[in-house]
Amino acid sequence: MRNIPLSVPNLKSGNERKYVLEAIDAEWVSTGGQYINDFEKALANYLKTDKVVACQSGTAAIHVALMLAGVKMEDEVIVPTLTFIAAVNPVTYVKAHPVFMDVDETLCMDLNKLENFLTNQTEMCDGVCVNKKTGRSIKALVMVHVYGNMTDMAKLMEICNRHNIKVIEDATEALGSYITEGALKGKHAGTIGHFAALSFNGNKIITTGGGGAVVARKIEDLEKATYLTTQAKNDALYYLHDEVGYNYRMTNLQAALGLAQLEQLDEFISLKYNNFTYYKNKIDAIDGLEILPFSKTIKPNYWFYTLLVKENFSINRDELQKRLSEKGIQTRPVWGLIHKQKPYLQCETYEINKALEYYDQILNIPCSSNLTKDDIDYIVESIKEIAEL
Ligand SMILES: *Cc1c(COP(=O)(O)O)cnc(C)c1O
Repeated sequence: MRNIPLSVPNLKSGNERKYVLEAIDAEWVSTGGQYINDFEKALANYLKTDKVVACQSGTAAIHVALMLAGVKMEDEVIVPTLTFIAAVNPVTYVKAHPVFMDVDETLCMDLNKLENFLTNQTEMCDGVCVNKKTGRSIKALVMVHVYGNMTDMAKLMEICNRHNIKVIEDATEALGSYITEGALKGKHAGTIGHFAALSFNGNKIITTGGGGAVVARKIEDLEKATYLTTQAKNDALYYLHDEVGYNYRMTNLQAALGLAQLEQLDEFISLKYNNFTYYKNKIDAIDGLEILPFSKTIKPNYWFYTLLVKENFSINRDELQKRLSEKGIQTRPVWGLIHKQKPYLQCETYEINKALEYYDQILNIPCSSNLTKDDIDYIVESIKEIAEL
């Protein structure tokens, strides 16, 4: 029987071994070393931004971004409910409260509902957006670019700037996606909001094993990010600290792997694009199934493929998942909605309904960059067989 995983790293075709062994030979394996600088430079260059700060994980990057955005205890942060929980947990790390929003057909936060919420439920007091129901300040918003897709970022920035809300892009799934139309044409995911987080976890489009990066517009914010991720050390000799810092810096070993992966990012995107198109042509022809398209105003990185199992399909999503698994094909339902998870049951939500529909219908199907056409044929044939088509 075959064994086709959902999303695994592609580590064998580039300079991964060479660079990691060089880091070991040089005996620079920890939070200092040339690969960290090289990786940060190459990443900033790829994103057409001045500088990025490499760290231990995407989660750590979001935590740092919230601190840079000035989110403090008892503030509020607007977040989507349809996301991986790591986009929301850092709001709790800074002792603030998430407010959950719905998604639209892009799978990203619904901007019309966001606008309605801000217009009807908040008021500006001394330049701060205040939630009328709770009296708390809404300082920031986390925009997750779900599965590599992007919403209308120009519109989001306009809405948030009008309410003085800092935008943190969770671009952990969207490295390589960029805008192709309008005023932000050419801008990469992660370089539009005030701050952004990237991730290089094992399932992401490129990996450092585990790792992430903080992106920001202002150089002083990036310097602050470096400071916070390296234990907030003011003085390297006497070890003096003015703030509580974190052990969040990326290691040279991780960066060595990351640099080799980054060299192949465009190739991975093109492999993922080819597989996406191949899947889509075959699956959209099946009644009751659809591969969700990406937004037309962006060039996506095609990170994850979203199979929509509609009500008129012969079996439901969970049954399909189970039967595919019996055939050695790993698929996964979309994440459990965050506003329904135990730590967040008490939090405010705003008109969530589209996310509930997607929660029942979305199945993520194998999407690794090393997936072959033959694998896809097997997956599609298996789906047809299970559905008795
Ligand atoms: C992967 C991911 C993260 C967290 O990244 P890690 O590097 O695993 O900490 C955050 N948000 C979303 C949407 C993700 O998919």
